[in-house]
Amino acid sequence: MEIKGSTRIAIVIGHPIKHSMSPVMHNRAFRYLGMDCSYIALDIQPEGIGHFIKGLRYTNILGVNVTIPHKSAVIPYLDELSEEAKFLKAVNTIKINGYKLIGYNTDVYGFEKCLEGIDVASSSALLIGAGGAGKAVAYALCKLNVERLFITNRTEERAKDLIKSLNDLFRRDINFIPFGKLESLGMIDIIVNATPLGMEGIKEELNISSSLIGKETTAIDLVYNPPKTKFLKMAESLRARTLNGIKMLVYQGAESFKIWTGIEPPIEIMEEAIKEYL
Ligand code: NAP
Repeated sequence: MEIKGSTRIAIVIGHPIKHSMSPVMHNRAFRYLGMDCSYIALDIQPEGIGHFIKGLRYTNILGVNVTIPHKSAVIPYLDELSEEAKFLKAVNTIKINGYKLIGYNTDVYGFEKCLEGIDVASSSALLIGAGGAGKAVAYALCKLNVERLFITNRTEERAKDLIKSLNDLFRRDINFIPFGKLESLGMIDIIVNATPLGMEGIKEELNISSSLIGKETTAIDLVYNPPKTKFLKMAESLRARTLNGIKMLVYQGAESFKIWTGIEPPIEIMEEAIKEYL
């Protein structure tokens, strides 16, 4: 793709950033649609984040994705936040609208797409993990009015804080369950791993009781590398429906693309780019 004077640039910022999949996915989409745009990854040290974000409104940058460790740090420099970004206190997408900077969190949308075809309102769900991704999952499940939601997390306090804010916002009665007591839940309709357990480079795996999983279960692992974790292999062997993190990754990126360009993103092309890269 030739970069010319007219080329609009989109950027993902993080620290470190080398591992990001976003350039592969967005550049493939720009090329496929013949757009005069390019996407790059920029490593920004935490001390410089305010300077970078403040300067954005004076540029012709197409849009910005934000990843670890800047997702919360960018918020004080933005003019507006979407509902999701406000609740999660985390922004992964910035739109430059004239001189206005608007922050979004597209992880919620990305996860909602993973639930397509499931009658969430009549499902029970178990969320394992209450970090950034776990919060987005919990928000999406509550937004879709999940029948019953249980959350477990290594650090109990973190899960309990999340539960309190969800109960306040959605007027729900979500329950904390210690990891060691999961077995008592019996069969669950939707189980989500929102921890890095099972991820390439992490030695520990997610080990949960097989009594939680049945033929009616949908097991979702937000980990996408490897594409099939031990958790998903076990769920598959119990004839559950399984889904890895690629769909969420692609749809959260696709939603950013749409926010910046107003153009319907080529989802399959973006997914193909990610799968090839992995
Ligand atoms: P995060 O904010 O750092 O949260 C990590 C979560 O995992 C916390 O709940 C943490 O528990 C738990 N955890 C970490 N190590 C653990 C261990 N050894 N044993 C038990 N629990 C452990 O990270 P994140 O952004 O939420 O990401 C979590 C996972 O989701 C990562 O694998 C990431 O790659 C994946 N992800 C995927 C997508 C996608 O689009 N597919 C998007 C975002 C994230 P504590 O609270 O006790 O620390």
